[in-house]
Amino acid sequence: MDFEIFSFLDESATIRERLIYFKDADLIPPKLKELVVKESVARYVEAEGVIGGRKFSLKDQWVFLTAPIKNNNMEYFHTCVRNYDKNKVIRIPSNTTVLLTDSKWLEDKISEIELYLNLSRTLKFKDSEKEQIHKDKQILIAELDRILLDKKLSATKKCKLCPALLGIMNPYQYCNKCYEDKVSARYDSEYRPIY
Ligand SMILES: [Zn+2]
Repeated sequence: MDFEIFSFLDESATIRERLIYFKDADLIPPKLKELVVKESVARYVEAEGVIGGRKFSLKDQWVFLTAPIKNNNMEYFHTCVRNYDKNKVIRIPSNTTVLLTDSKWLEDKISEIELYLNLSRTLKFKDSEKEQIHKDKQILIAELDRILLDKKLSATKKCKLCPALLGIMNPYQYCNKCYEDKVSARYDSEYRPIY
């Protein structure tokens, strides 16, 4: 939903009325109807539940509505809206480098930081900690990558007879060399089975 559509209705219209207008508006050219699916308003309605009733400018309402909110940063989104309503500033996410060993925690913090960076860019409030939070985000992403890579590596199978790694997709229990050794041990030099 772009700002032009959001701000199309008269100034007295509520956010909900604007969303209904957007939902019902026929915006897709007839030729593209088969190819393009109109954006759902479900996410906007969720954000409207948080910002509805606050005295934000039309532009600020739109910024909050279209911010990258997800289930795992919804709680922080509430904090952002409260902060901004009170002081026109948003506080950075808390404890950004506390629990670097938990991939779920890292994913949640990264999405909070992304929300913060998006809002600080679009609402243009003064933020002295922006540079630090950028650095924190890079640290969190590197840690998450490392954990995911570790998981992948530990899921890699080893050959039952030697330390060779087989790769996750390998369906066998032995590496090629051990398999050949094993097979050849069962036969004599003329390929007759040894009992
Ligand atoms: Zn082997």
